[in-house]
Amino acid sequence: MSDSARLVIIGAGIVGCSAAYHLSRLGWREILVLDQGPLYETGGSTSHAPGILFGTNPSPTMARMAEYSARLFDGFEFEGEPCWYPVGSIEVATTPERQQEIRRRCNYSRGFGAEAEMLSPEQVAEMVPIIDPGAITGGFHRPGDGVARAWQCAGALAREATASGGAEFRGGTSVTDIEVRDGRVRAVVTDQGRVACEQVLLCTNIWGSVLSDRVPVTLPMMACAHQYALTEPLPELAGETGHCAMPALRHQDRAMYFKQQADRWCTGSYRHEPHIISPYEVGTDAYWDWVEEDFAVAIDDAIELFPPLRGRRYDSRVCGMFVFSVDGFPMMGPTAVPGFWVGVGIWVTHSGGAGKLIAEWMTSGAPEWDTREMDISRFFPHQQTREYIGARSWQNYAEVYDIVHPKQQMEKPRNLRVSPWHEQQRQLRAEFFVPAGWEVPQWYGANAGLVEEFGIPPRAGWEAEHWSPIEGGEHMCTRERAGLFDISPIAKFEVTGRGALGFLQRLAANDVDRPVGKVVYTSMLTASGGIRADLTVVRRSADNFWVLTGGATRMLDLAWLRRHAPEDGSVGIADVTSAYAALGLWGPRARDLMQEVAAGDLSHGGFPYYTARHLEIGSIPVYALRVSFVGELGWELYVPVEFGLRLWEAIWEAGSSWGLCAAGGGAFDSLRLEKGYRLWGSELHTEYDPYEAGLAWTTRPEKGEFLGREALRRRRDQAPRRRLCCMTLDNPDDVAMGREPVQDGERVLGYVTSAGMGFAVGRFILYAYLPSAYARSGTRVQVRYFDRVLPATVADEPLYDPGREKIS
Ligand code: FAD
Repeated sequence: MSDSARLVIIGAGIVGCSAAYHLSRLGWREILVLDQGPLYETGGSTSHAPGILFGTNPSPTMARMAEYSARLFDGFEFEGEPCWYPVGSIEVATTPERQQEIRRRCNYSRGFGAEAEMLSPEQVAEMVPIIDPGAITGGFHRPGDGVARAWQCAGALAREATASGGAEFRGGTSVTDIEVRDGRVRAVVTDQGRVACEQVLLCTNIWGSVLSDRVPVTLPMMACAHQYALTEPLPELAGETGHCAMPALRHQDRAMYFKQQADRWCTGSYRHEPHIISPYEVGTDAYWDWVEEDFAVAIDDAIELFPPLRGRRYDSRVCGMFVFSVDGFPMMGPTAVPGFWVGVGIWVTHSGGAGKLIAEWMTSGAPEWDTREMDISRFFPHQQTREYIGARSWQNYAEVYDIVHPKQQMEKPRNLRVSPWHEQQRQLRAEFFVPAGWEVPQWYGANAGLVEEFGIPPRAGWEAEHWSPIEGGEHMCTRERAGLFDISPIAKFEVTGRGALGFLQRLAANDVDRPVGKVVYTSMLTASGGIRADLTVVRRSADNFWVLTGGATRMLDLAWLRRHAPEDGSVGIADVTSAYAALGLWGPRARDLMQEVAAGDLSHGGFPYYTARHLEIGSIPVYALRVSFVGELGWELYVPVEFGLRLWEAIWEAGSSWGLCAAGGGAFDSLRLEKGYRLWGSELHTEYDPYEAGLAWTTRPEKGEFLGREALRRRRDQAPRRRLCCMTLDNPDDVAMGREPVQDGERVLGYVTSAGMGFAVGRFILYAYLPSAYARSGTRVQVRYFDRVLPATVADEPLYDPGREKIS
């Protein structure tokens, strides 16, 4: 074995092999892949996975990783046998709720570009003859899915990587430590000796934390035991000699999946109490003890769907382990320790795409697909505690096939992060949502009277769940009087030092070299010109800036800033999020109210839009920003946390004479949508550039060098292929939830990025990226919502206050 390498990949399961394959295709050389087990049936999860690929996913990136994997595996064979069986997949429903759910899944699959169709029970039975069509209400078919022979795929990928001269694979070699010196990776230590290297990619899956803890980097995950079994040969399948000829099948009402394997039938089940295993207790392979009682119920459930299974023996059983993370997504990308990368918690389904993504990330820093959901940097400190990791991994296993409403909130743990005015919010009967673990009111029960006052119509069904018409009442109260919003979760970074201005100028696409007290809205771009962050920069003094970003993206944005900071000590970056609580006060009466409580000139001339300064509200020192994400006159008010309660009281007392209401996240979202403000993670992320997103006005390509500038200039000179469009539903009683396909007849144009009622304009609003030819006001399109086709029309934006009169 070589004693040095450019990159050591630890783990030759399907993820390590896929990463090696893609890196070598991008020209990497001197990659050494090490595994403790024998190649390529190493004893890891890949060795025993049935390899079913169900590509449907509410995350566009996860869906694309799956589709890419299917295409990739399709080309491979191993030891003369194909690695991939393109048999498609079917998800069946046995209840009205699931029938609705598979329709919804079919829709978002189509919106993300996959072929997908709904099937009647009889059509399902034509494809899977052993099913009882009387036991199901229908199915959802994806012809592009299929079944992979997982470890053989790994072997084929490794063979290609080796043949290209890029990678060398060694089995029987256990990595015992990772050497980090002077803040970066230097070597791995193995039971066969030390290998010096520049970079390490950790692909050790269920064992992940054992090595990452030594670096140290926390992987918030657990191993979970899971089992499936194969029947004895079935006469009904006699003659099926190939590995797999029928679509794989999911029965999510009973948390089960199935596949045909020659003349046997494979049944897997998640319907049992989860078994969570610490990575330190995994042992030498990914096998675990079979639990008979966990499978008993699955046997009966399987017979209900497939009558020929009655009386048949399951004579081959596998209980294995694989990873569940705290949010159900993989953990990938660069860590805070230079040279140390991870690729953990990835299913066979996504492994091909994951390898591509990791390879691009390591090569250019700018992968083609949006990585926010799988970036290892996304986790908050509370998500890295042992209690949280155990509880959330357990829950994610238990819920893996459940119908989860997009607005459903986690039940545990709660009340972890609360604002100083939490008690006041509880007294106003707040319904709390938990973005990033923070208890934030979505609406206030005490505002029920606003529903009648503003005539907000009720909703029924799916779209009424986790929603209240009170959101509409708070929206209108903010538009007509004033609303008080808890915006404490906003991430606040203090960037200081003699190098602070130069540093921010090199990262921001807008010009932040502005006078003290100026607020600048800007993007930060990737090297290829995609929008990596959407933020506000406030110059507080010559070399002191506040960088404000979304609460949900705080850890990602902090990692991005730190990764690009100079190493010469000229710049300090402090995360002061928890030091300051914040309230947003907006509405036409906001200035009247503020003038009652705050000293100084608050007129438009005295405190102009996009400026910031210190204010006194009684004895409370406040730092106020004259900005608005809801499109009304007002301020963001930041206070050291200990003054927070008194600030709320002062504003609340004064607010009574101005008709102030406390307003929640529901109103905040519909207000911003009505005003056409983009949200990072929905309308904005790295796959879109500022021209496509309608944010060219926040960039200054001529200001000098900054990250992404060259790509931005190139993109400016090309006409965008697609544009972010505002649409409204033609029937004002129709609604959508987001992620639905937008169509022109049968042609899918894109998917809905955000949806919400514009209560003040009286129209239901949607945003979506559409091909540029459709981006003209008045263009007619359709939105597929469950089994309905909703007519919609592209509209000029913003719908609310296009003349910007309200904010002055
Ligand atoms: P692994 O295959 O586990 O590879 C990790 C490798 O790291 C191992 O080879 C191990 O030997 C090596 N390693 C660990 N520590 C060290 C060390 N210190 N030094 C050297 N080497 C080390 N996914 C699907 O998409 N479809 C399915 O149908 C499916 N069914 C499943 C059924 C079961 C029962 C199980 C358990 C999993 C299933 N999965 C399925 C999940 C899937 O198998 C895994 O997510 C996937 O195989 C993980 O691949 P990997 O390369 O990350 O991990």
